[in-house]
Amino acid sequence: MDNDYIVRASAAGHQLRAFAITSRNIVERARQIHNTSPVATDALGRLLTAGAMMGSMMKGENDLLTLQIECGGAIGGITVTADVNANVKGYVKNPAVFMPPDPQGKFDVPGAIGPGFLNVIKDMGMKEPYNGRTHLVSGGIARDLTYYYATSEQVPSAVGLGVLMDRDNFVRQAGGFIIQVMPEADDGLIDSLEASINHINSTTGFITGLFEKGESPEDLLRYIMRDTDVEILEKIPARYHCNCSKERVSRAVASLGQSDLQEMIKDGSPIEVNCQFCNSHYIFDTEELKELAG
Ligand SMILES: [Zn+2]
Repeated sequence: MDNDYIVRASAAGHQLRAFAITSRNIVERARQIHNTSPVATDALGRLLTAGAMMGSMMKGENDLLTLQIECGGAIGGITVTADVNANVKGYVKNPAVFMPPDPQGKFDVPGAIGPGFLNVIKDMGMKEPYNGRTHLVSGGIARDLTYYYATSEQVPSAVGLGVLMDRDNFVRQAGGFIIQVMPEADDGLIDSLEASINHINSTTGFITGLFEKGESPEDLLRYIMRDTDVEILEKIPARYHCNCSKERVSRAVASLGQSDLQEMIKDGSPIEVNCQFCNSHYIFDTEELKELAG
C-alpha cells in the first residue's frame, strides 16, 4: 500500500489555502490497535484524517493539537492528537459500538456520536493552550469542523472526510480535504467553490471513490477547485504514531501523588499501565514504584 501523505496547496492566486490527505494506513492502523467496529472505524477514521491535516497546519515544531468529541451517543467520545509533522493517534471510548448500516452500506456515524461538543485544543507552548469549544451540528465530523472554523476561528472553511471499508471491514480508502477562504477572496470565487463542495459532500463516498479510481489528494484538490489554478506547495508524509515510552508513563505514575503510590507499594503487586492510544502495556513492580515515590 502507498504511504499516507498530506498536500498543502494554494489556489486562485492565494485567495484559497487547501489541504488534502490520503489516510488509509492511519485509519487501518487505528482499526487494528483498537479493534473498532465498522461505525467506530468510520468515526475515528474521520477524526484522525482531520487531525492529521489540522496538526500540519500549526506553526511551531512542538505544537500539539487535540480534537475531542464529548458526546451522548453510544460511541461515548473520541480523542485524537496530532503534531505539526502529521504524526497522529487517537481512540474512541467504546470501540465495539454497533450500528446497522443503512441500505447503501453507509454507517451511521452521526447516530453513533449523538449530541455533544467538539473541543479543539492547540498547545503552542504558551501558559494556557488555545481551546475552542463548539456544539456538534451534525455528528458527521466534517460539518462539525466546518462549523467550528466559522464560529470559533472565524475562517470560512469547507471540510470533507471519508472512510471506505471492504466487505471484511478492513479499511480500503480514507481521506479528506480542508479548504479555507482568505479574507481578500472575491465573492464569485466563493460561490463557485461552494457549488463544487456541496456537490462533493452530498455525493456519498465521493473522496474515497476518487481514490478507488487511482486519483490522488492532488487530483482531489484540482477537482474541487476546477476553475482555478492550484499550486501544490508541499507534500507531508503522515502516519499513525504514538510516542509513549516507559519513561513518559513513569512520569505520569509519579505524578499520582504520594498517598496513591504508597498504597500501591503496600499492596505489593505490580501495576500495569496501558496506553490508550497504542495499547502498549507498561508494568511497574514494587521496586520501581518505590523509586518513583522517591
Ligand atoms: Zn502509546
